[in-house]
Amino acid sequence: MSTIKFDLPTNDTSVTAPKNSVLTLIVPVYNEQAAIGPFLDVMATISAQMPPSVQTEILFINDGSRDGTEFAIRSFIPANHHIRLVNLSRNFGKEAALCAGLEHARGDAVIPIDVDLQDEPGIIPEMVAKWQQGAEIVNARRSDRSSDSWAKRTMAKAFYRVYNYLSDHPMPSDVGDFRLLDRQVVDVLRTLGERVRLNKALFSWVGFKAEEVIFERKARSQGHTKMNFWRLWGIALDGIIGSTIKPLRIWTYLGTILGIMSLLYATYIFVSTLWFGVDVPGYASLILLILTFGGLNLFAIGILGEYIGRILTEVRERPMYVVHSTHGGDE
Ligand code: UDP
Ligand code: MG
Repeated sequence: MSTIKFDLPTNDTSVTAPKNSVLTLIVPVYNEQAAIGPFLDVMATISAQMPPSVQTEILFINDGSRDGTEFAIRSFIPANHHIRLVNLSRNFGKEAALCAGLEHARGDAVIPIDVDLQDEPGIIPEMVAKWQQGAEIVNARRSDRSSDSWAKRTMAKAFYRVYNYLSDHPMPSDVGDFRLLDRQVVDVLRTLGERVRLNKALFSWVGFKAEEVIFERKARSQGHTKMNFWRLWGIALDGIIGSTIKPLRIWTYLGTILGIMSLLYATYIFVSTLWFGVDVPGYASLILLILTFGGLNLFAIGILGEYIGRILTEVRERPMYVVHSTHGGDE
């Protein structure tokens, strides 16, 4: 079994030396047994390129994996004190796993990163450099998404367009969860109690001084994506509904306009019936109105339901995730 070497902080006390700090890499994993080894190999190389004052902690959040992911991670822990593992009691989804990571991270800065090496670890030293120069958030923007399928790219583009149109706090497109967050930002994020959440939307909402680093998103190192269409759809809806009430407000305006139009039409029908008598034919216009209004009503109720369902999730106040066990570090 390979041993991963990490640079320990030096005890250099010279006046010019920057303060020793810890960087936590938050790595959510779900059925990623084969990806753990290659990820840690790459991280060992990256760790060697880091400034000596920065110590790297790797915090795996095992999101209820059913394969050998937990065993794979634990096999590295005895020889690597900088690796920690938090096992969740079942699969809670990546957003919840990320929250668990933010809660358990001890670093002065954190970087959420996927284990499949799609988030280029090679740019981490550059992100750390910007942080040391004063940035509180360092976004990693994808210059190239050709490793994602055409359908996924189109959906992502549509999502960002809709989100940024509706939301009061736009977020940069092509920046995922992979970004550096200073401790101050993490502490603010930890105070946000909402359960229905899209973390990257909150990363933008908190504000703070942000810088940017560009990278090229590669194909997965191992395995296959865990995000199918319905998962992504659910996350996108959570993001939009969690950030704006405009989809609710639209019905106030649309209802008002349709109400006025209906009143005018009703007046016209009333007057013309008085004047010309009862006009029996009218099946086409009747059925058209019934179908249109029926459809609009159902659609509006559906939107209401999306909000009410999420209100229920919030008021139940269940935790976003349940920790089964922790390994590594002091535990
Ligand atoms: N992941 C997770 N829980 C889930 C789904 C995914 O922790 O329910 C992790 C996964 O192991 C990976 C990261 O989230 O480290 C990104 O997932 P994936 O690569 O499948 O998503 P994609 O990059 O295709 O959007
Ligand atoms: Mg991936």
